[in-house]
Amino acid sequence: MYDCDVLEGLKAELDKLCESDPIDLRDSETIVELHRCLARLEAVTTTATAAFDAAGEWDADGARSAAAWLRARCHLPPTSAHRRVRLGRELRHLPATEDAWLAGDIHDSHVSSLVGVRKPATEEALERDEEMLVGEAKKLHFSTFSRVLAYWAQHADPDGTENEAKDNRDKRKMHLSQSFGGMWFGDLVLDPISGAVVDNELRRIERELFEVDWAEARERLGDRAGVGDLARTPAQRRADAVVEMARRSGTAPADGRRPEPLFSVFVGFETLAGRICELANGTVVNPGSLVDWLDEAWIERIVFDGPSRVIDVGVARRIFAGATRRAVQVRDRECFHEYCDVPVEQCQIDHKEPWSAGGPTTTKNGRLACGFHNRRRNRGP
Ligand SMILES: [Zn+2]
Repeated sequence: MYDCDVLEGLKAELDKLCESDPIDLRDSETIVELHRCLARLEAVTTTATAAFDAAGEWDADGARSAAAWLRARCHLPPTSAHRRVRLGRELRHLPATEDAWLAGDIHDSHVSSLVGVRKPATEEALERDEEMLVGEAKKLHFSTFSRVLAYWAQHADPDGTENEAKDNRDKRKMHLSQSFGGMWFGDLVLDPISGAVVDNELRRIERELFEVDWAEARERLGDRAGVGDLARTPAQRRADAVVEMARRSGTAPADGRRPEPLFSVFVGFETLAGRICELANGTVVNPGSLVDWLDEAWIERIVFDGPSRVIDVGVARRIFAGATRRAVQVRDRECFHEYCDVPVEQCQIDHKEPWSAGGPTTTKNGRLACGFHNRRRNRGP
C-alpha cells in the first residue's frame, strides 16, 4: 500500500465531501470544479494503473493480464478494465495529454479520442501537433473538437483515412429476422453517408406522423393536450415510419424523380477555413467516400468573402428563404446557443435582432436556432 498520508488525507476529505448535502454543492462553479476533480482522479488512477501494468505485479496473483486483475479486484466489466490499461499505456506517448488530464483541463473522452487517432502512420505528426490538439480540447465543445480531430487525422494520414472510410462502407449490413413467436427483429449498420440518407428520410416521415398524432390529441383534449397524450411513443412512430417507407417505396414509380437532396455535404473554402468536408449533421467524412455518390450529385456554390461572412442576398422579407437561408445554414451549421449543438437539419433560422424590432432578413442578422432555443427566446419578456 502507498506508504504516504496523501491517499489517507484524500479519503478523509472525500468523506467530508460525500457527507455534505448535495444542495450545498449545486452552484454552477462547484459543479464545474467537481468535474475537474473527477477528471484528475481518473487521470491519476490511469497513470498509476499503467505503472502497475508495467511492473507486472498482477502476475504474482496469477492473473493473465493487468486488465484481468482489474476485472477481478475492482469488479470492472471487461471493456472498462481494458480501456483503463490501454489509456495508461498510450498516455506514455502523449505527455501533453497526460498533463492536461492530470490538471483536470480535459476528460477521459478527450483522451480516448486522442489515443484513437494515434497510429503508426500518424505518430510523428501527433508528436508535433499534440499540444495544439490538447489546446483545442480545452476550449472547444466536445463535438467541435471531434470534428477538428477528424480533419487532423485526414491530413495526417490521407490514405489511412480513405481506407478506413472504405472499410466503414464495407461494414454496412442489415439483418431482419423473424423470431419463433413471429415478431421481427432488425439490426442495421450503415456508413456515415448512407446512415444520413436513411436518417433524414426517417426523421421527415416521423415528423409527419408526429403531426398526425398531435392533431388527434388536440382534437381529443383541446389546449390541454401535451406530449404525454400522443397515441404513439417516439419509438413506435419510428417503427411506423420504417413501414411507411416500405409502403411508399412499393407505390413509387420505378422511374419517378428521386427526392433531392438525399444528403448535404459541405466541402471547400480551404483558403478561409482549412479543409471542410462534412455532412450537414456535422459528421466529418472523407473526400473519397463521396465518390460513390457523385453521379447523382447536384452542386450548389456559395461564395464567402470572409470566414464567417457569406456574401449577402439582402431582400426585405420576414422569412429566411432561398439563398439567404442557405447562406446562414452553411455558415453556422449548428444552433447558435452556447449550450447547444443541434445540427443544421433540425434548426430553424432566427432573426438575431427580431423582425418586429426592425431586424432585417439578411444573412448578417440570421442565425440557426433549434426549436427549443427559438421558443425559449420568443418566450422572453
Ligand atoms: Zn439550441
